[in-house]
Amino acid sequence: MKNKILAVIPAAGSSERFNSEELKQYADCGGRSVLEMAVSPFLDSEIISKVIICISTNDTFIKNQNFINDPKILLIEGGSTRAHSVLNALEHEEFNDYQYAIVHDAARPNITEADINKIHNNIVSNASDCTILYQPLTQSIKQASKNIDKTLDRSKYYLVQTPNISKLDKLRDLLKNLINKNIEVPDESFVFEFSNLKITKVLGRSSNIKITFKEDLELVRKFSTRIGTGFDLHKFIPGKGILLGGHYLACDYDVEAHSDGDVLLHSIADSILGASAQGDIGYFFSDKDEKNKNIDSKEIINFCIEKLNELELEIYNLDTTIICEYPKINPHRDEIIKSLSKILKISESKIGLKATTSEKIGIIGKNKAIAVQSAVNLKKIK
Ligand code: ZN
Repeated sequence: MKNKILAVIPAAGSSERFNSEELKQYADCGGRSVLEMAVSPFLDSEIISKVIICISTNDTFIKNQNFINDPKILLIEGGSTRAHSVLNALEHEEFNDYQYAIVHDAARPNITEADINKIHNNIVSNASDCTILYQPLTQSIKQASKNIDKTLDRSKYYLVQTPNISKLDKLRDLLKNLINKNIEVPDESFVFEFSNLKITKVLGRSSNIKITFKEDLELVRKFSTRIGTGFDLHKFIPGKGILLGGHYLACDYDVEAHSDGDVLLHSIADSILGASAQGDIGYFFSDKDEKNKNIDSKEIINFCIEKLNELELEIYNLDTTIICEYPKINPHRDEIIKSLSKILKISESKIGLKATTSEKIGIIGKNKAIAVQSAVNLKKIK
């Protein structure tokens, strides 16, 4: 049955308006490239059978993309224009029996699976030839002229986003026809407009932005965060006190540890290493290594912060839960937060600290251990 959908992502452009050495589709958005973000919903979507990415022959970045070995991906050589690239993709024999083609800009990273489903449902239910996503104009619009610029009625205009969806065979034939006639094709819907065919439109989202200038990238980065979790547990032994987040808390216990046993800092370190995909604390500070004996856990955190700096990441916020029956944490809560703020070099307002017990059950409930669970949110430093 002819019901398959092909996704085409032209990525052979040269990013003239993007003031960077790098092509805009490969710019980093908090650990993922713009292109990886733009491609990901198509790989996840069950209605998309294949994703073609059109690249230029001298593209050396594509091989480092996280989707490169995905069986849904097919790389092809792009053409001199977007229209040529899309046509190259549609003319692949393999896709003759596909019903629809969805075309999406490589530089629109905020697309979601819901956008894909929305245009697909629209083209099917309206039996149209092409469906586009649109956005109303929210700012005034003027027509430039040699003399006095003229204010236009903005309700008569709208902006067009991608992805768009078209009947594959029609898009291919019409595109070929216009290219042969040397008619410029600004986007896929234009070919249907040119032939008076049925185009329907669905309201898009203003956050589905196209990265054109450096500031656009900063905007996307601002909202792109990475989450990490960390867990640590130490056995109690008789002693005079324990370290929690660099704060010394006098009590009848100490913890059994190769290091200084700061269970809170260990859990936070693991959450940071996890969020930045670096590994875990045991990988960098093995307890088999003598040089880590009695190590000050603040050194471990400093190491993690250095790693974050290298990756141009910073802590957006931290939430952590200390689980023990004893000592009581709440009277020391403010002191611990103050200490964490100093060690992590973030404001106290970004630190959540909670304490709970284990209801007298298990090794924690029997006062034999203390555990900490942490979650951290990292974001890209501008
Ligand atoms: Zn530990």
